[in-house]
Amino acid sequence: MLKKSFFLFFLLLSFNSILQAAENKPTVITTLFPIYDFARQVGQDKISVVLLLPPGVEAHSYEPSAGDVVKVSKADIFIYTSAIMEPWAGKFISGVDNTKLRVLEASGGFTDKDPHTWLDFTKAMVMVDRIRDTLIAVDPANRSFFLATARQYNKKLADLDTEYQKELSGCQDKVLIQSGHFAFGYLARRYHLQYIAAYKGLSPDAEPTPRNLAELVDTIRKNKVKYIFYEELVSPRVAETLAQETGVRLLELSAAHNVSREELDRGVTFIDIMKVNLKNLKLGLSCP
Ligand SMILES: [Zn+2]
Repeated sequence: MLKKSFFLFFLLLSFNSILQAAENKPTVITTLFPIYDFARQVGQDKISVVLLLPPGVEAHSYEPSAGDVVKVSKADIFIYTSAIMEPWAGKFISGVDNTKLRVLEASGGFTDKDPHTWLDFTKAMVMVDRIRDTLIAVDPANRSFFLATARQYNKKLADLDTEYQKELSGCQDKVLIQSGHFAFGYLARRYHLQYIAAYKGLSPDAEPTPRNLAELVDTIRKNKVKYIFYEELVSPRVAETLAQETGVRLLELSAAHNVSREELDRGVTFIDIMKVNLKNLKLGLSCP
């Protein structure tokens, strides 16, 4: 009996110290999956990182809830991509009552109207550096830890960039046709692909016009395109229509704005998603 209560006592004691340690960690709220993963890779067990976007939810049309305000009002750091990607962020932040909160616009100052900056991995590396510096500002005691993890992670992104350069250099087809919104501008530019999206706008909820569709059908036929790409987390209805019309086959290409519940639980990473993309791009563009 005595032994048992001693055991319980120590169990409680250690549980309590775990709780205290968790409380002392900076809480980092991130909006989209790429910055969630970058923060997770740099902060590891030294931070507690939250993805604000619920799993499976489309990123561009997201509107924060009252619960999100509560989360951020208790957090140490809020990281979003940019005013173009999350147009709600500025107003949202000014409505949060939290004087200690540090806010980072991870892609701030990138002079491009396309907000999908993370799909150029050299730009993703800049975002990682900014996240690292923000973590250091809030938790200077772990400075050397964050410097080391950011360096390691940026090495992985640099390797990924090299792999993309190498694998996509000798493809037979150079036209990347995608049935969704204009998300792969950065990626296409970086790897010298011609990029056509079914709709020019940013919202995946928008519909391509009949004229856009007719032009795409023409382009597919003229270039003898074998595969087109559809985006993550939205119904590939447009892609299916094009497939019925022209006989092209379909492959997924994820811009990684967000992940599904299953992927989040499985611990999928940004780099995992980009490796699947590369595999599909190689198949779809007939690369050696
Ligand atoms: Zn997008």
